[in-house]
Amino acid sequence: MAEKMNFQDPGFTPIEPDPQYILQVNGLKKYFPIKGGMIGKTTGYVKAVDGVTFNLKRGTTMGLVGESGCGKTTTGRTILRLSGEKTAGQVLFKGQEIYDLSSKELRALRTKMQIIFQDPFSSLSPRMPVGEIIGEAVREHNLVPKEEFDDYIDQVMDNCGLQSFHKDRYPHEFSGGQRQRICIARALALNPEFIVCDEPVSALDVSIQAQIINLLKDLQEKYNLTYLFISHDLSVVEHISDAVGVMYLGNLVEYGSTEDIFRNPLHPYTKALFSAIPVPDPTVKMNRIVLEGSIPSPANPPSGCKFHTRCAYCTERCKQEAPVQREVEPGHYVVCHLYDENA
Ligand code: SF4
Repeated sequence: MAEKMNFQDPGFTPIEPDPQYILQVNGLKKYFPIKGGMIGKTTGYVKAVDGVTFNLKRGTTMGLVGESGCGKTTTGRTILRLSGEKTAGQVLFKGQEIYDLSSKELRALRTKMQIIFQDPFSSLSPRMPVGEIIGEAVREHNLVPKEEFDDYIDQVMDNCGLQSFHKDRYPHEFSGGQRQRICIARALALNPEFIVCDEPVSALDVSIQAQIINLLKDLQEKYNLTYLFISHDLSVVEHISDAVGVMYLGNLVEYGSTEDIFRNPLHPYTKALFSAIPVPDPTVKMNRIVLEGSIPSPANPPSGCKFHTRCAYCTERCKQEAPVQREVEPGHYVVCHLYDENA
């Protein structure tokens, strides 16, 4: 049997459950092996998530932003234990390490941790009427008595802005926005506490985007839901999030309240990303920071600071030594040598 590699960082410190947080993620890593040669030997790893740490309070939203391929979606899926085993780190949901749960315990927990995908069409079975799609898992988990099932589905559809008399229709008979409402209803029907929203509005028209975002906000308020909101659209993230994490090549490079991150972005990557947000004033000149080159491969990330190949402030130290996370102002963390007071 192949020897199990230990990818835990030598300086990794396990955390204890903290009841003020519904979700605690500590040093989370998810590597995917690269197989090569005749016998399919592991020749390397794609380091999709490479040491992500953050906490999330109940009833709040954390936005996760970054370029395509930075590891946002894999982070969301790894938190939900949807991508097999984690490589290292901790994921505590209500104080419980979800990777320690048996399959029976995990099945019970699945109702509490849900996901909404980017493309509502491909995530809905074309052969099932929407009432069945929304109620399938409700039935499977025996969440409501049989005689109350129909009323329950009607209620969930109503909460999500869907007409309950449409429940015998099929997904192709709905518009894109309505299909995303069906996906939200399917998640909501399970009475979840935490939902990963993976680019839930990217495939929709701008006018419909606002409706879905408002629906998510209303449902959050009504049911005290907690969201991890993955998006590359910074305006949407600013609108819906209480906190924001900026990811680059598998790492969180900056993390803090939405106000701090948008008012005072600190990491050179965050500054470049945010400089591209359009300003709704034709008299204001945008100072867009254009990043050179493309995002390096997560299978072969640069040494030291992973951003050094594209950073205008790169020094010799950046090429050798990976920066550590520092709290620059209360609750505002950044991973960059520029903020090392001892340097
Ligand atoms: Fe740039 Fe160096 Fe900071 Fe990395 S550590 S972001 S290379 S200044």
